[in-house]
Amino acid sequence: MDIHLQEQYDEVLRRNPGEAEFHQAVAEVFSSLGTVVAKHPHYADAAVISRLCEPERQIIFRVPWTDDNGRIHINRAFRVEFNSALGPYKGGLRFHPSVYLGIIKFLGFEQIFKNALTGLPIGGGKGGSDFDPKGRSDGEIMRFCQSLMTELYRHIGEYTDVPAGDIGVGGREIGYLFGQYKRITNRYESGVLTGKGLSWGGSRVRTEATGYGTVYFVDEMLRARGESLDGKRVTVSGSGNVAIYAIEKVHELGGTVVACSDSAGYAVDEKGIDLNLLKQVKEVRRGRISEYADLRGGDASFVADGTIWDVPADVALPCATQNELTEEGALALVKGGCQVVAEGANMPCTPEATKVFSGAGVLFAPGKAANAGGVATSALEMQQNASRDSWSFEYTEERLGNIMRGIHDRCLEAADEYGSPGDYQFGANVAGFIRVADAMLALGVI
Ligand code: GLU
Repeated sequence: MDIHLQEQYDEVLRRNPGEAEFHQAVAEVFSSLGTVVAKHPHYADAAVISRLCEPERQIIFRVPWTDDNGRIHINRAFRVEFNSALGPYKGGLRFHPSVYLGIIKFLGFEQIFKNALTGLPIGGGKGGSDFDPKGRSDGEIMRFCQSLMTELYRHIGEYTDVPAGDIGVGGREIGYLFGQYKRITNRYESGVLTGKGLSWGGSRVRTEATGYGTVYFVDEMLRARGESLDGKRVTVSGSGNVAIYAIEKVHELGGTVVACSDSAGYAVDEKGIDLNLLKQVKEVRRGRISEYADLRGGDASFVADGTIWDVPADVALPCATQNELTEEGALALVKGGCQVVAEGANMPCTPEATKVFSGAGVLFAPGKAANAGGVATSALEMQQNASRDSWSFEYTEERLGNIMRGIHDRCLEAADEYGSPGDYQFGANVAGFIRVADAMLALGVI
């Protein structure tokens, strides 16, 4: 690491003790910025990097709620408003017991560069709570969301901060959050949240966007090598929103997804994952992947030990959660002949895993590029809300496809220009950084 960057990194460690995921995300971006800061000393002069590492605002609050048996629970919620140089803070809310400030900061930091890469006018932020939605009734989820919004409403707005979903937060939760925001403020302010339902201000393609976008990105990477997804064997970790729509798009483009997973294990289905059944299990019953394998019968099996990366594949799409794909998983993928890895989740590959991929010549797309389709389509939802319009599926999907191709090309161009041709991870960091850094310079020291 360049000496100036190392000093900044030491400061990040000192200021944010115990936040391992945030440190990891910062180190990953810094590892690409050496040539950029050497070429453009004015970024250092204006303290752009140290300002980027310190969130503009961090909100932490208590969320009390009552369960179906009348017991009172207390959760902690966060909203980290990281950087608004390019537009209102934009990023999801995550409900998961692992959530603490370090997770939200890593996600918010990633979001700055991801959102910059889309080319759209959105800043970076993230939020969430250590609330565990698993096994909770609809009523409990609703009361939790209402309680959370009773505090969050004062910090957000269509020109200020626009939350959306992430792990544990989908259309149902966005509905309860939006309802409470509307009730408290007496404003039908559609643009305050994205990921809304289609009949109340949502955008077509938003549900599918992150998974579809990831697969568009892979398609572009393959196309750049004169290949395509047609006939490829693909593994997709996870079985939530991102995974489901990644599987759908892989199948549409002629590939076969032979395995997907959840936190308890993975299902192998050599004939290809039956998407209707998977949607039934995950979206309707909110069930487990073992149930998918049981219902699918003879064609599929459920494996509780080992990891999904043991299944040989041409393309691997980690779409579950951070640090799920370790060095061991990466070595297994390389052994199985994997040529392309694209992150549908945020930071699912550990630094050791990405090192294995670059050593073995595996094409690697980082989440801030490959999974940007979700937030990009959120920005399209904001555009529709601002103009009180609603676009067709075809038109919205075409916009998404163009945005993903734009991100792909921006990564390669930046990688070329700054001395690491073909390196998507490097190119994504550099291109995202330059866009937000230039805006910060223009706006002065704020
Ligand atoms: N949580 C998603 C992400 O990681 C989407 C955020 C949004 O739509 O604002 O990018």
